[in-house]
Formats: sequence, structure tokens, C-alpha cells
Amino acid sequence: MRNLYITNTLSRKKELFEPVNPGHVGIYVCGPTVYGDAHLGHARPGITYDVLVRLLRHLGYKVRYVRNITDVGHLEHDADEGEDKIAKKARLEQLEPMEVVQEYTLRYHEAMRLLNVAPPSIEPRASGHIIEQIALVKKILDAGYAYESNGSIYFDVRKYNESHNYGILSGRNIEEMIGGTRELDGQDDKHASYDFALWKKASPEHIMKWPSPWSEGFPGWHLECSAMSEKYLGKEFDIHGGGMDLLFPHHECELAQNMASRGCGGVKYWMHNNMITINGKKMGKSYGNFITLQEMFAGTHPILSQAYSPMTVRFFILQAHYRSTLDFSNEALQAAEKGLKRVLQAAKDIREIAAAAGIAEIPADIAATSEEINSLVEKVYDALCDDLNTPVALAHIFDAVRIINTAKDRKLKLTAEDTTCLLKLFDDIVFGVLGLKDEDGDSGKSGKIIDGLVNMVLEQRKAAKANKDWATSDRIRDELNALGIHIKDTKDGTEWTL
Ligand code: ZN
Repeated sequence: MRNLYITNTLSRKKELFEPVNPGHVGIYVCGPTVYGDAHLGHARPGITYDVLVRLLRHLGYKVRYVRNITDVGHLEHDADEGEDKIAKKARLEQLEPMEVVQEYTLRYHEAMRLLNVAPPSIEPRASGHIIEQIALVKKILDAGYAYESNGSIYFDVRKYNESHNYGILSGRNIEEMIGGTRELDGQDDKHASYDFALWKKASPEHIMKWPSPWSEGFPGWHLECSAMSEKYLGKEFDIHGGGMDLLFPHHECELAQNMASRGCGGVKYWMHNNMITINGKKMGKSYGNFITLQEMFAGTHPILSQAYSPMTVRFFILQAHYRSTLDFSNEALQAAEKGLKRVLQAAKDIREIAAAAGIAEIPADIAATSEEINSLVEKVYDALCDDLNTPVALAHIFDAVRIINTAKDRKLKLTAEDTTCLLKLFDDIVFGVLGLKDEDGDSGKSGKIIDGLVNMVLEQRKAAKANKDWATSDRIRDELNALGIHIKDTKDGTEWTL
């Protein structure tokens, strides 16, 4: 098996990957809190850990990939205060909390499917693991690292830090935290502001609550990942991934809970993907640049100059190393769209070359090409195994594209071996590990048919309007609307969106 190196957030070093159980890999990634549409911030971890899992499987490992759904306990502020995000959405929309969870879980799945992110092996939900979480709270209480206060249970950070290092993962130290946090106002159940909830007593109006030995309440957000990762991957597993925004407090708390309950950190390699910015700014609702994936794919957000297909977004994300920040702009996405097109065209061309070419006589100067092809394939593997360096891997794939283009122009003849090697590079790496696909190949076809049909119907509406047949024109609009096709009349004609 090839050597794979990954940057471990815990050691802050690139390390040789050696799984706890040879040949098997357990991965846990923090999934979404399902109270709103999937957005660009979900695409990056989705794709990053998808490529990691695909690479590990391609290298021959048996992988169990667990990605959770947070459906309870994620409060609005600092994970520990304010209203539950899902309960709030349910209250505002007059839905059952589990209706909110179901709707946004399905939408998240659909966005991931379009991005060609393979589903995880197990997708556990926090609300389905209350028993395990209560058991974990008991263990931490028994170990002496938590205290009860008015029916809630809090992790005792200062006590834990006497014998352990709280902050080891994120690089923060507790003294800084004491300085940086607000004074408690005496109304608080916590002993210190940096203590975090393991179990919260629910207020009477709180709708998502369960019985426990301490109160009717709900688990703290950080608890679910400790409980579910242990349940499905064991006390010690290989990789824990997530976005850098989860490093503190979420993952720091998770690590402390693991230590306090099982006596070990539980995770061999912590991996964190960096954040996405939009036109140089942090993405956020208050900046007006919060783009959902649906808006991205349909081009409906005001800062987008066009729609970008899921594969364009995937390709764009792969063009940056997962540990670097990534800035979305129309120019950069348009460049990615072109780049993707070139790669996919080369994939078609090499198939045609392979189908057309027998083993013709080979000019003497071709031997160098075979060597070049072999070496570039090696470089692609080296890059991917070097901490998932997808931008370097793609740069070498573009070298392969250039070779294919030269062969297509009949300026170079590829041997049968060369062709096989290039075909394998596309099948195993471009489509396999990187998970790119030709969107025109499947949904593209039906998309073109829909385009044609809608435009045909709109032509009839235009004719009706020209005849002042308003009844027909309105009926067409309403019937399209009922099908989920929304039309908008502008001075240049009629626009429509699905
Ligand atoms: Zn988590």
C-alpha cells in the first residue's frame, strides 16, 4: 500500500497515516445541523472528506465513514446558550421539530448527491442516541470531571485542566479563556463561563426534551459526537474531520469528554478543512453573501453572474488545498468551469483514441512520452498521498490533458499502453478519487429536454399575449408554476427558473 501523509491538527505536523487496525479505517466527520438549506460552507467538508474516503478505498483500505446529523442540542450562541436552532425554526414555521429535521436533511442529501459526494456508511442522529449520551454524562460525572447545577450537568474545565490539557487541540490556553470570557452574572448555573453543558435542563416551553436522572432536558451539542463516534468506531479510531470553525469549542470539548470518560483522546488524526470566503469576505447572513447550494446551482443569488453546476463547484473546491482558505468569485468559478470542461473533453478524446487506435507502428521519439505519462501518473498519486494535495494532482492531470490534445491533433501517437494508462488515470483518479463526472452525460440530457419543452411552452404564451389572449397566457403561467417552474416577465422577454 502507498504511504499516505496527513496533517494532524493535534500535532500540527504532517504524519504518516497508520490506522489503528491495519487495513481498516474509521472516520468520523461532523455533519450539518439541519435547520436551514445546505450552503457553500457545507460543500467544502462534504467534498474534502469524500475525496479522502475515496482515496483510502482506492488505496485498498476498508473504510467505515460516519457522518452525523445534528438534530438537537445545537443552541444559538456558543453551542451552550440561547434557543435550540431547530426548535426555533420549528416555532417560527409552526412545524414539529422533526419536520424541520426531515426537510433539511433531505435537502442536504440532495445537494450532496448533486455534488457527487458519496453517502456515509452510517449517518447517526443526535436525537436517536439520547441513551448513549446520558450514559456518557454518567461516566464523566463518576470520573469527577462534571458537576450538577439546577438539573443541568456541566463539564468542569478547571478540574479537568489540573490533570489534562484543555486547549491542546485548538492551541488555546485556559488562562487566555478566563481573560477573554465575560463575567458570569450570578444567574448562571455554570461555575465558570468556559465550562460547557453536557446536559441542559429544559425550560417548560422547550419542546425537545427527554427524561434523565437529573432533569427533563436535552444533551449539550458537543456530547453527541463523543457518544456516536465511540458507538460506531470504538474507543480509539483513526480520523476525525470537520471544518476549522468546529475546532473550538466543539472539537476541543469532544476531546476533553473522550479523555474524561475513556481515558484516551480516542482520535489518532484530527483533520480540519479551512473556510470559504466570498469575494474576499467571510460568508455570513449579515454580509449579504450567504449563498445556498441551490442558489449556486440555479444562479439565483444576486452576487452570482450565472449558474454554476455542481461539478463546477466541486472542481473549484478541488483546485485549492483543503487547509487553505478558498475565495469564491465569479471570475474564479468561470475559470473552474472552463478547466473542468477541458478535463472532461480530454476524457472523451482519450476514449475515442483508444477505440480508434490499433497498435500502429511507433515513431522513435514516442518512448519519451510513455515515460512522461508514467511519471505524471506517479506524480498524481504522490500529490494525493501528500496530505490530499488536490491542486497539485490537478496540475499533473492537466499535463495529461495536454498530451491527449497533442495526440488528438495527430502530432503524437500514443501506444496502446499509453492509452490504457491515461484511461486508467481518468477512471481511477479523475472520476474515481476526485469524484468528478460529466453532468451532460446523465442529468444534462434531461436538462436539455426540459429547457426545450419550457421554451416551447413559453413561445405559445408569447403568441397568446400577442393575441391579447390573457386567459391562455395566465393559465400557462399558473400551470408552469404548479410544476415548480417560475417565470418572470422582463423587458427582454421571459425568464424562467426551476
Ligand atoms: Zn461534531
